[in-house]
Amino acid sequence: MSNVRFDALKMTFDRRPVDVTELTGKRSELFGLNVFGPAALKNFLPKEAQAAVTDAIEHGKKIDRKVADQIAAALKAWAISKGATHYTHWFQPLTGTTAEKHDSFFEPAGDGTAIEKFDGGQLVQQEPDASSFPSGGIRNTFEARGYTAWDPTSPAFIMGTTLCIPTIFVSYTGEALDNKVPLLRALQSVDHAATEVARFFDKNVNKVIATLGWEQEYFLIDKALAMSRPDLMMAGRVLLGHQAAKGQQLEDHYFGSIPERALAYMRELEIECLKLGIPLKTRHNEVAPNQFEVAPLFEEANLAVDHNSLLMDIMEKVAARHNFKLVLHEKPFAGINGSGKHNNWSMATDTGVNLLSPGKTPKSNLQFLTFFINTIKAVHDHADLLRAAIASANNDHRLGANEAPPAIISVFIGEHLTSVLDELENVSDGNLSPEEKTELKLNVVGKIPEILLDNTDRNRTSPFAFTGNKFEFRAVGSSANCAKAMTVLNLIVAEQLRKFKTQVDDLVDNKNLKRDDAIFNVLREMIKASKKIRFEGDGYSEEWVKEAKKRGLNNFKTTPEALKVMKAKDTLALYERHGVLNAVELEARYEIELEEYIKKVQIESRILGDIARNHVIPTAVKYQNKLIENVRGLKEIFGSEYAKLAKEQINLIKEISDHIGSIISNVEKMTDERKKANAINHADKRADTYCNKVKPFLDEIRYNCDKLELLVDDEMWPLTKYRELLFTR
Ligand code: ADP
Ligand code: MG
Repeated sequence: MSNVRFDALKMTFDRRPVDVTELTGKRSELFGLNVFGPAALKNFLPKEAQAAVTDAIEHGKKIDRKVADQIAAALKAWAISKGATHYTHWFQPLTGTTAEKHDSFFEPAGDGTAIEKFDGGQLVQQEPDASSFPSGGIRNTFEARGYTAWDPTSPAFIMGTTLCIPTIFVSYTGEALDNKVPLLRALQSVDHAATEVARFFDKNVNKVIATLGWEQEYFLIDKALAMSRPDLMMAGRVLLGHQAAKGQQLEDHYFGSIPERALAYMRELEIECLKLGIPLKTRHNEVAPNQFEVAPLFEEANLAVDHNSLLMDIMEKVAARHNFKLVLHEKPFAGINGSGKHNNWSMATDTGVNLLSPGKTPKSNLQFLTFFINTIKAVHDHADLLRAAIASANNDHRLGANEAPPAIISVFIGEHLTSVLDELENVSDGNLSPEEKTELKLNVVGKIPEILLDNTDRNRTSPFAFTGNKFEFRAVGSSANCAKAMTVLNLIVAEQLRKFKTQVDDLVDNKNLKRDDAIFNVLREMIKASKKIRFEGDGYSEEWVKEAKKRGLNNFKTTPEALKVMKAKDTLALYERHGVLNAVELEARYEIELEEYIKKVQIESRILGDIARNHVIPTAVKYQNKLIENVRGLKEIFGSEYAKLAKEQINLIKEISDHIGSIISNVEKMTDERKKANAINHADKRADTYCNKVKPFLDEIRYNCDKLELLVDDEMWPLTKYRELLFTR
């Protein structure tokens, strides 16, 4: 009888690095080749239409139907010149992935011939059959229809032979059904708020964009091996499996030389991405075996989010060509480092200034301090929202797992900036002369060293760290759509900057303070008020958990707990104040997140139940029978003396029976709990029950299965082992 595991292993031995054509040549020449970017715009569009597109991108101006027709004609001509035959509205439904439905340009002309057709109407709006995308009840209550509408701020691109048009996805009544709409709204809000504050320092500023540079971590597992693991294929992570004798403790993989096969994959990935305008820049090994990272240069946040969604899609396609299974799960292998997607975030003005760059002069330092301290205060006030934005069944396995950022949200700023803030906090300007005040300001602001731009001052255990000229939100999950984290971060910073502006204006208008003094006063109060969110120590330590508790910081370990803040009155008020989500939209998102959590745990529980009963137990019984046969044989040969000789075998037989018994009873109990949970009407109670009553059985069952893996004959074990999954290159 064949063993799936050995068949798979045999297949992998024949794998050679797959190389693709077009690997040579300058990367710069490939960049943006398949994007309807500035160059294509210039070549294919009349001047007037070009200006309309620029206006739409930069000032959010509407594009009228006549111009839309011109743009559609240009897009069609461009796409066909590149060999495209189809077009699609490309959007990001709340499944977290991307969606597309291809239509052909081809249309019968009615006289036996055919034409290629694509006009403004088809560009601007579509009605995909979207009834199976999650809507959290929005489309049930109103209208079953959902519409996609063109987002001119993100350029169209060609994937394969399909012209893809980035769009938003909304219901008939205008409610957001995707990740992009709230992001665009939050970006608009932070633009307005940050522009007003930036104008304190420079009247020439008219627009502020949020910037995002993500870093994507992932695993590459040989496809044949991955396919021999039903859990990895269906749940994206292994639900059982004993750790290999060697894990990552030697740290020999991190930044080591990239294995040939993986490198061939990366090369092709880079080429595909560059053609689509995704500015991939770095690639390297990560900490765990067969774990890697890829990162681009940062971009405007909406574009960067689109590019990350696109990247995840391309990664999977390219992986298949190289006989790899791409694993984006946050924690595919218990006991081995998980994967994240660090979100490097900052704000930049249309005058070209990074608002989180300390700069060289005191003036820009005061501006820096303003945006820096406001961000810290925003995180302090809304830490729970940030935590909710990264909550998922997958990420629960990673956050706080002693290698990933903890589930406690805190901010790391480094030694230098800590001392700058301490100094600022401790001065009282009540009896200082104007000269002394100026001196104080110059001293404080002059003290921020450029050296910070260096990588020396790093704390990798913090979920939200300042890294020289940007904040790095490290707790975002590797499979997540970064729109969620980016929406919340930009929203809370917008809220904080609005408050700040009001407070400063008030001191200037009503207390006769000079503006710089007013800014200093408000910043000082903010430093005091947000102190508890700052933590410079080891985020992985037990002491921090205790200390955080003392400080009153929340430590939501599970998704159902973390999501509860979405139900708070204040949360809705905040979202409404900035027009990011209304009550219906927010409620729908809460429901969708819970449902997704429930489904994930439910699926994992079913898969593990199946594997335990259909793979593990039959194998254990088979091996146990071999042992029994052996004992019988010994008895036959040695008579009454056999008991001494077969002592260990008999113990083993008992031990196997114990594990089998435990697995069977736990699978039964888990199934019962699942049934009970499924009968609960309210999603939040159902999620709690899945979390607290069903999920614990996963660990219990796994424990016994993993023990059996160690006891049973290796030749009989049907499930590909850790060492094979992780060390096959
Ligand atoms: P690492 O964090 O690995 O040391 P870097 O500090 O060079 O690497 O940058 C990591 C990421 O941060 C990159 O994707 C980079 O584009 C991004 N980044 C750099 N500056 C900014 C910025 N001003 N805004 C947003 N992202 C940025
Ligand atoms: Mg980083």
